[in-house]
Amino acid sequence: MSFASHVARSRSDYRRILLSCVVVAAVVFAIDVWGRQVFAVGVGYGVVILLAARAQRKSWVLAAAVICATLVVIGYLTAHGFERPGEPLVRSCVGMTAIVSVAIFAWKGLTASETLRGYTTALDQAHDIVVVTDLEGVVIYWNKGATDLYGWDPDQALGRLASELMTTDVALPSVDHPEFADDGLWQGEIVTRSRDGRNLIVHCRCLLLRDDRHKPTGVLTTANDITARHEADLEIRRSAARSRHIFQATGVSIWECDFSAVKVRTSALYRSGVTDMRRYMIDNPGFIREAIDLTRVIDVNDATLEMFGAATKQDIIGPVSRVWPVESEGSFADSICAAIANVPRFVTEVSLCKLDGTKLDVLFSTAFPPESSARDSIFVAVSDLTARNEAQAALQATQVDLAHATRLTALGELTASIAHEVNQPLAGILSNAQASLRWIRRPEPQIDQAVRSLEAIVEETRRAGTVIQGIRALAKKQAPVVQSFDMCTLVRETLELLRNEIKRHESELSSEIAARSVFVEADRVQIQQVIINLVINGLQAMEETGVGDRWLRVECVPAEGRALISVSDCGPGIAPDIIGNLFTAFVTTKSDGMGLGLSVCSSIVGRHGGRIWADDAPGGGACMRFSLPIFDLEPTT
Ligand code: ADP
Repeated sequence: MSFASHVARSRSDYRRILLSCVVVAAVVFAIDVWGRQVFAVGVGYGVVILLAARAQRKSWVLAAAVICATLVVIGYLTAHGFERPGEPLVRSCVGMTAIVSVAIFAWKGLTASETLRGYTTALDQAHDIVVVTDLEGVVIYWNKGATDLYGWDPDQALGRLASELMTTDVALPSVDHPEFADDGLWQGEIVTRSRDGRNLIVHCRCLLLRDDRHKPTGVLTTANDITARHEADLEIRRSAARSRHIFQATGVSIWECDFSAVKVRTSALYRSGVTDMRRYMIDNPGFIREAIDLTRVIDVNDATLEMFGAATKQDIIGPVSRVWPVESEGSFADSICAAIANVPRFVTEVSLCKLDGTKLDVLFSTAFPPESSARDSIFVAVSDLTARNEAQAALQATQVDLAHATRLTALGELTASIAHEVNQPLAGILSNAQASLRWIRRPEPQIDQAVRSLEAIVEETRRAGTVIQGIRALAKKQAPVVQSFDMCTLVRETLELLRNEIKRHESELSSEIAARSVFVEADRVQIQQVIINLVINGLQAMEETGVGDRWLRVECVPAEGRALISVSDCGPGIAPDIIGNLFTAFVTTKSDGMGLGLSVCSSIVGRHGGRIWADDAPGGGACMRFSLPIFDLEPTT
């Protein structure tokens, strides 16, 4: 049975078949009744059953057989009645036997046909392409998979040359091909083109069909679309090549490390009841070294060789302990904890050692694969921080210089007030000394009065000493000294130092300073420099304001875990064109300004973990604020 014959019958087909059955049955019945041609009757009813079988339905065969048998009986009774048994009856029995035999034959045929139809239905449902061609390459079966991929319906495909429907980059094997004729099988990947012109990559299998006598009858072609898989493979290969390129070309040192042995060890510890790994590592410091020994470098890029002074990869490949010094074990312990905590990334600054033993400050960053991932290897990026640390040290040195220079500038501004500050106690000392002398030289020396004057001298001397000390500290160039001190005391002392400068600028000073101590950890001199800069800037800004109206307000209060210091004035406020880069070096609106004060303030405050910013003051002036983290706060009483 050909593949093409498995086509569903239409209503008109059924009508045609039914009509032909009825006509043939009627003719046979007539011959039976009037002609008495027993063989013609047997053959005739057999033809009726075979015609019914063309409907491809067993019920039709059964119905045709029953009707034909009934007609034989009716024919017999019509011709002979019940009275003449013998030879006619035998003849009718022969006819009946023929009907039954043909019916059985047709029934079996339909059963086989149904089985075959089941197969072809299954093939139709398959996603794979299944096409059968005859020896000339004409399509005799075309399944749904072929329709979906190529865009031709079975009606359009059946009867046409397969080579027209599926153009391929290589010719598909034909029976003329000796190798194919011998092997009967060919398979390979080919590029083929769909009806709408898409290029498709398919894996194709051609099987030579043969009949019972081994004679070729056609070609069964099965194929599946691997375009997407091919694209994905290509993308994976491209991405691997890209990764390889990045791995090699980047200036950053990249290591691929095998962490699996450490994973096994930590899992075993977890099973044995160790839930706090950090505690365990503190109690068993030897474990960290063991874990470092168990972690293996399995690949590195060229940048790593250069960074660690290795001649070949083999010098580095192996236990990571070769480059991981004892003093950096803490960072390794942190990385183990990070891996266990399942954080996606871990970044730390750590000191490693080159192969020749010299120290190397690096930024060590790694991404852990998700827990579900089967991969035990991790990629680690290592960037050399030596240059950055050197640059940072140089920058810090420059900043110290710069801060010193701006302090001297500020002191220059303060010269007049400083002279006054020192002169005032000196004058006091002189007059008190003269008074003491007078009290002592009296005919009756007034010792009590003299002592009081001497005490006043001590007090004035202390005040002058404090002023000088403060000025010396500001004038001295020294590396930052971080210590804990009370911010409120510093603000008070600084305002005291600036008292005369504020007076000289004919400004009213008001302040709100917290009564309790607010301790911060910072370089005292530098923070004092910030306050002085902000106050002097405020005083200078108010130069334009009329005398008598000038006021300056300084606040120092604890707020949200920070010491908040504000200096507000009633000047014109920050010029709008510089507000965006107020803290950038060399930004100034003053003809004689350097534009360094605020940039130095910003770097000082930033270095101490604080923040500096500008707000509007009530009345349109500027309100410069900075905050520093509180180290300790005296409780309120
Ligand atoms: P300089 O004082 O040398 O100009 P600064 O960095 O201290 O450098 O200040 C930069 C600029 O910020 C000043 O020129 C001024 O325009 C502006 N500025 C700073 N403080 C105030 C203030 N209180 N009111 C208005 N403008 C200010």
